[in-house]
Amino acid sequence: MALVNIHFLNLQNNYLFADIAKKVNAFKVMHPKADVISLGIGDVTQPLAPAVVEAMHKAADEMGSIEGFRGYGPEQGYDFLREAILKNDFLTRGVHLDIDEIFINDGAKSDTGNFQELLHWDNFIGVTDPIYPVYIDSNVMIGRCGTYRDGRWTNVRYMPCTAENGFVPPLPSGRPVDVIYLCYPNNPTGTVITKQELRKWVNYALKNDALILYDAAYQAYIRDPEIPHSIYEIRGARKCAVEFHSFSKTAGFTGVRCGYTVVPKEVSVSTFEGERIPLNQLWLRRQCTKFNGTSYISQRAAEAIYTPEGKQQIQQTIDYYMDNAHRMLTKLRELGYEVYGGENAPYIWMRTPDGMGSWPFFEALLYGANVVCTPGVGFGPSGEGYVRFTAFGSHEKTEEALMRIENWTKQH
Ligand SMILES: *Cc1c(COP(=O)(O)O)cnc(C)c1O
Repeated sequence: MALVNIHFLNLQNNYLFADIAKKVNAFKVMHPKADVISLGIGDVTQPLAPAVVEAMHKAADEMGSIEGFRGYGPEQGYDFLREAILKNDFLTRGVHLDIDEIFINDGAKSDTGNFQELLHWDNFIGVTDPIYPVYIDSNVMIGRCGTYRDGRWTNVRYMPCTAENGFVPPLPSGRPVDVIYLCYPNNPTGTVITKQELRKWVNYALKNDALILYDAAYQAYIRDPEIPHSIYEIRGARKCAVEFHSFSKTAGFTGVRCGYTVVPKEVSVSTFEGERIPLNQLWLRRQCTKFNGTSYISQRAAEAIYTPEGKQQIQQTIDYYMDNAHRMLTKLRELGYEVYGGENAPYIWMRTPDGMGSWPFFEALLYGANVVCTPGVGFGPSGEGYVRFTAFGSHEKTEEALMRIENWTKQH
């Protein structure tokens, strides 16, 4: 008899963006003529940089020739890309990594979800709350989170990030956390962490022999020179942190698929007997078994981001989105809303007015202004009373949405 992995049945059925789509569709059925603008989902809208497209064409041509054809590539990725990453993303910040510490992935979602496989099923995980849902759901699938009660998993330490604590939670007290998920710049709040604050987390991990899984998917949006782009800018992080990167938000690769994961050789975890097991070797073994590499064309595309033209072109697109973020912050503040983020990240996190719940506000905005936001509570219990807006739209749509929000707000 084939038995199901019952942990999958514990997953909360409602995938946030499916719920949103259902509500938006219901609205459209009732109001077929309404033109709905979405500032909801976290996908990019602007085309790939010309340097990237050119590299993809070239790679495709190579693949079509007998001399240039390539079959399976190295599971960890091609050296040309790993070298470009080392040189541009780390050496420039004074971080020295070995090429074997970089693993090219097909986007950070896979690796942020898969990495927990290397860890014993009853490690105690801690997450900042609100949070990118992948971290918790992937742990639920393996039975690490306990049961779901009142919007929370019983075996997860939620570390609330709210306006009151500046969206950086205090270190966990009581039972030590074994595995900590951090994401900065943060999705969904759009807020960042300073070196000083991040150092506290690294020290906590070193002291408690915990592992930090650090998601740096939005590092390209950092403008403040004091804000760290990588956890390895903090001394000691090489011993306790794994870091995930993605070209999805950096260079519009949500459809191309490429990113990378850094697993330093010094990071290790323990057996019950106290033997130290380096995660780098274990991850390599896992990847060689379950992953056959990111496509050659995607990796050549990613390499092109690091050329002088590529750098300049992707920066233009990032600036374009950050211009939206700036307009949103300015307008929403002018209208009297309490808004956060948006300065070093493409997300605006807004407190709903008059203590309204996230979902009621979402519906009010949809019906009143025909604008879609993302209810904060969908990212975790501490997201209640907030909504997220993304800066990934076009200037025109963003301006139009802001105008509608203004008119709607002034009617109240
Ligand atoms: C978008 C995003 C990613 C990247 O996902 P890809 O699989 O690389 O497209 C990773 N982490 C967070 C928090 C994100 O929002």
